[in-house]
Amino acid sequence: MANKKNVYFFGKGKADGDAKMKLVLGGKGANLAEMTNLGIPVPPGFTISTDVCAAYYENKNNYPKGIKEEVEAGLKKLEGVMKKKLGDPDDPLLVSVRSGAAVSMPGMMDTILNLGMSDKAVKGLADKTGNPRFAWDAYRRLIQMYGDVVMGVKHKYFEEALSEIKKGKKIELDTDLDASDLEKLVGQYKQIVKKYSGKEFPQSPIDQLWGAINAVFGSWMNERAIKYRQINEIKGLKGTAVNIQSMVFGNFGDDSGTGVCFSRDPSTGVNEFYGEYLMNAQGEDVVAGIRTPERISTLEKKNPAIYKQLVGIKNNLEKYFKDMQDMEFTVQKGELFILQTRNGKRAGTAAVKCAVDMVAEGLIDKNTAILRVTPGLLDQLLHPMIDPKAQKDAKVLTKGLNASPGAATGRIVFNAKDAEIWHDKGEKVMLVRKETSPEDIGGMVASQGILTSTGGMTSHAAVVARGMGTPCVAGAKSVLVQSDSTVEIGGKVYKEGDWITIDGTSGEVYEGKLPLVAPAISKDMNTFLKWCDEVRSGAVRGKIKGFDVRTNADQPEDAKRAFDFGAQGIGLCRTEHMFFDKEKLVHFRAMIISETEEERKEQLKKILPLQQKDFFGIFKAMEGRPVTIRLLDPPLHEFVPHTPEEITELAAHLKIDTAKLTSKIGTLIESNPMLGHRGCRLAVTYPEIYDMQVEAIARAASECAKQKIPVRPEIMIPIVITARELKLLRPNAEKILEKIFNETGVKVPVTIGTMIEVPRAAIRAGHIAEYADFFSFGTNDLTQMTFAFSRDDVASFLPMYLQKNVLDVDPFKTIDEDGVGSLMEHAISEGRNVKPDLKIGICGEHGGDPATIDFCFRAGLSYVSCSPFRVPLARLAGAQAVINNTGKIIKGGESGKTKPATAKVKGSKTPVKGDEKMAASTATKKPAAAKKTAAAAKKTAVKKTTAAKKTAAAAKKTAVKKTAAAKKTAEKKTVAKKATVKKTVAKKTAAKKAAPVK
Ligand code: PEP
Ligand code: MG
Repeated sequence: MANKKNVYFFGKGKADGDAKMKLVLGGKGANLAEMTNLGIPVPPGFTISTDVCAAYYENKNNYPKGIKEEVEAGLKKLEGVMKKKLGDPDDPLLVSVRSGAAVSMPGMMDTILNLGMSDKAVKGLADKTGNPRFAWDAYRRLIQMYGDVVMGVKHKYFEEALSEIKKGKKIELDTDLDASDLEKLVGQYKQIVKKYSGKEFPQSPIDQLWGAINAVFGSWMNERAIKYRQINEIKGLKGTAVNIQSMVFGNFGDDSGTGVCFSRDPSTGVNEFYGEYLMNAQGEDVVAGIRTPERISTLEKKNPAIYKQLVGIKNNLEKYFKDMQDMEFTVQKGELFILQTRNGKRAGTAAVKCAVDMVAEGLIDKNTAILRVTPGLLDQLLHPMIDPKAQKDAKVLTKGLNASPGAATGRIVFNAKDAEIWHDKGEKVMLVRKETSPEDIGGMVASQGILTSTGGMTSHAAVVARGMGTPCVAGAKSVLVQSDSTVEIGGKVYKEGDWITIDGTSGEVYEGKLPLVAPAISKDMNTFLKWCDEVRSGAVRGKIKGFDVRTNADQPEDAKRAFDFGAQGIGLCRTEHMFFDKEKLVHFRAMIISETEEERKEQLKKILPLQQKDFFGIFKAMEGRPVTIRLLDPPLHEFVPHTPEEITELAAHLKIDTAKLTSKIGTLIESNPMLGHRGCRLAVTYPEIYDMQVEAIARAASECAKQKIPVRPEIMIPIVITARELKLLRPNAEKILEKIFNETGVKVPVTIGTMIEVPRAAIRAGHIAEYADFFSFGTNDLTQMTFAFSRDDVASFLPMYLQKNVLDVDPFKTIDEDGVGSLMEHAISEGRNVKPDLKIGICGEHGGDPATIDFCFRAGLSYVSCSPFRVPLARLAGAQAVINNTGKIIKGGESGKTKPATAKVKGSKTPVKGDEKMAASTATKKPAAAKKTAAAAKKTAVKKTTAAKKTAAAAKKTAVKKTAAAKKTAEKKTVAKKATVKKTVAKKTAAKKAAPVK
C-alpha cells in the first residue's frame, strides 16, 4: 500500500487519472479527471482512492502508512494551483469533501461543503469578496454540515436555532437573513456543537479536513449505504473514494448561479437539453426547493454566452461518454464550472428511447443499446405506476416482497367473496389477507391488487397475481390482519373500505388512493425488442441454436397476451388450473372420491370435452408455436371440498350420504401434500386421469389440424423421480395418441417430456433422458426440495437469512447457482450425453428473473419460460445474457461432447442403467459392472428386509393415524383448507370474468 499511488490530482487541464479508473477513483473522481483532461472547466482538486477506504476498514479504521503525507502533498499542489491556502485568514481556499464509489449511490454517503472556514477565515473572505453576508453564510453552512456529519450533532438543533432567529425577525426565507443575523447564528451554532458533542468546533483547517475525510470513509458503512447496496445488489466494490475539490460559488450575486442538467430528457428520452438552475444560489438551495428553479431554456435568453458554452460541453460529454449525461454546474461571477458528470439515471421510456435513438444517430451499436436498458426498467413500462408527482409526498406504510409488478389502488376487503361483491357493485378493491388460497381466485381476479402478510415469491398469491398481471405485495410482515374488518399496517389501523395503494414493483404499501399512470408500449420498444430477438436467435452453443422465451399460461387469454408480448411458445400450461373451473370441479371431485376405476372413468368422461376446449383455445392462440402441457400435478388433497356447505353440496350431487363423503375426504388428507400423492404418482395409481388428459390434447390437436390451424403440442409429465415412471407412463400416452389420431384420421406430431423438479430426477437425469423428448426445470419445486424450504412458508424466516447474510438472495426469486444450479448443470450434462440436442427449458418462477436467465444461458438451456407480463423483460434479459456471456458457457451446457445418443424414444424399449435398471437388461453389462451389480443386489436385499420391516411399522403407524384422522375429520377441515394453499391453482371461470386483466 505504501508504494502505491493513493492520491490523484486533477486541475489546469491535466489529471493523474481518467474515466477508466472508476474502480480506483469512484465514478465522480474518474469523471472529474476525464473532464479535466478534456479541457472542460472543472474546479481543481484531488481524489483519495477507494483502495484507501478498503485498507481503512481492513486496518480497523486506521489509515495505511504514508496517506497523511500524500494527502498533504495533494493539498499543497492544490493550494499552488489556486494560489490560496486552505483556511487562510486573509484569503481562504475553501474546499468540498465528497464521497464517490464506482457505482453511484445518490445521497447515501456524506458530503461537506465550504471546508476551511473559521473565525479568522470568515473575516478574510468577507473582506476579500466585499460580501460579508456571503462569508458568514458559508461559515454557518459549514458548522451545520460538519457538526451533523462529523461531530454527530443532530441536524434538528441547528434547524431550531435557524427557525428561532427567523421567527424573531418575522421572516420566512433564509435568504432574508442579513450578515449580522448570520454572524449571530454562527455563534449559536458553535454553542450547539459544544453542548451536544462536548467539543469545540475545530478552527484548524487541517483538523477539519481529516475530520471530513474520516466521515466520508466512515459513511461507506453507514446503515443507509449498506441498505442501498443490499437493495440494489451492489457487490464487490472496494469502498468509496474521497474527492477534495476547490469550492466555486453560485451565490456571489446575479452573475452567479448553479444548476443540474441532462443531455436528454431523463423521463421521456427525447433528445432535448433538459435541466434547471437558480441564479445567485448554492447547490443545496436547488435541492432543498427553497426557491423554484428556472428551466434551462430560459438561460439561453438571460445569459446566452454561458448557455452556449454549456450546450457545447454537454454535446461533447455525451459524444465522449456515448451516453446521456447528468451534469452539475456552477457559474461564479460569469465563469462556468462543471462539478460533476455521470451517466444519467432514466425512466423506462427514456431508457428505450435513448437506446434506439443513439443507434440511429450512430453513437452506439445495437448490442450496446441492448445492454443499456436494465430489464427492471422495461418491466416498469408494462404495468401501471404510481404517478411520480404524487408518490413524492405519499406516506409509505410498510414494505413487503415485490411479488407482482405494477401499482394498484383500491378499498380494503378481507376476503375473496367480499372482493367479488364489491367489484360487482363497481368498487375498486384491494384484497388484504394473511395469505391466499386457490378458493380465493375469484376475489383475486376481482381485485385491483393483492396484499398479503405471509408467503414468498412463489406463494400462491405471488404466482397467481403475476400470471394475471395483477400487482401484488406479499409477505409484508407488518400487515396484521386482525379480524374480518380491520388490519394494522405499519402501526396504524385500517378498516374495510379504507383506500390503500400498493406498488408491486417496489413492494411498498401507501396510505390512501394515489393516482396511477398507464403504461404505453411504444414503437421504439418494439424496435428494441426485435433487436433483442435477433441477438437471442443468433446465439449458438454447441448443438443448441437460439435462446427462446416462452410463457407460462393456462388460459387462451393469457396465451394471447403472451403471444402479443412476443412469447415463442408456452413452456408451461398448468392443467390443474382448468379443473378449478366450477363446471369441471364438481366432476373432478366426484372422480377423486370414486371407489372404482369405472366410476372414475365415468366422471373423467364428463371433463374430457371441457378440457379439450381449453386446449383448443390455447393452441389457436399460439398459432403453431410449441405448447407444453403439463399433465395433472397437484395432490388430490387440494381438490377435496373443505367447508360443510361444499361437502353437503357434493354429497347431494352424488346422491350419497354426507357422513360417508366426509369420511372419504378424511382419507385423502395428507400431512405433507407437496411431498404426497401428486404429479405422475397420481398416474401411477390412477392412469385414467392422464389418459383422459392425453385424449383431450390429441382431440384438440386433431381439431386444429382439421381447421388448418398449425399446432405443436408437447406433453409434460411432472414430479418424476425415476426413469421407471416414464417407462411406465410414456407408452400409455403414446397408445392414446395413436388411438385418437387413428380415429380422427389426423396425425399431429406430439413430443413427450418431463419436468426435472425433484433433486433425485436431476441426479438421475441421464437415465430419465432416455425416455424423455425434452426436459423442463421446475425450479419452484426443485428449490423447495433442495433447500427443504416450504415455498409458501419462507416468509417467516427468509428475511432474517437475508439480513444476516446467511443467504445473498431469495432462492425462490433468483436461482441458487451453487446448489440448485449445480443440480441443473448436472442434469443438463447427463441429459445431453444421452441426447446431444435435448431441448431443455425452465418453467419455474425463476424463468422471469434476469440473473437466473443469465445463468440459464450459460448453463445451455434452450429456453426460459415466464408469466406473460414478464415476456418482454425476458426477451431483453436473454439478449443481454447472450452478449455478456459469449465465450463463457458452463461445461455441459454445450451438448454432445461425450457419448452419442443411445436413446430409442418412441418404443420406450431402451434399457435403463444404474439403479433404474430393470432385471432384463443386466446381461448386457460388462464383467466389472456385473460385479458391481451383484454387490448392489446384495445390498438391495439387505435394504429390502429392513425396508420391509420399516414398511410394516409405517403401515401400522398410518393405520393409527388414519383412525385418528377419521375421528378428527371436523378439525381437519381447517388443516386441509390451510394445506390447499400449498399449491398454485386458479379457477378459469373467475379468471375469464376478469378480462381485461388490470
Ligand atoms: C415448478 O415447480 O417450478 C413448477 C413450475 O411447477 P409448480 O410451480 O406448478 O409446482
Ligand atoms: Mg412443480
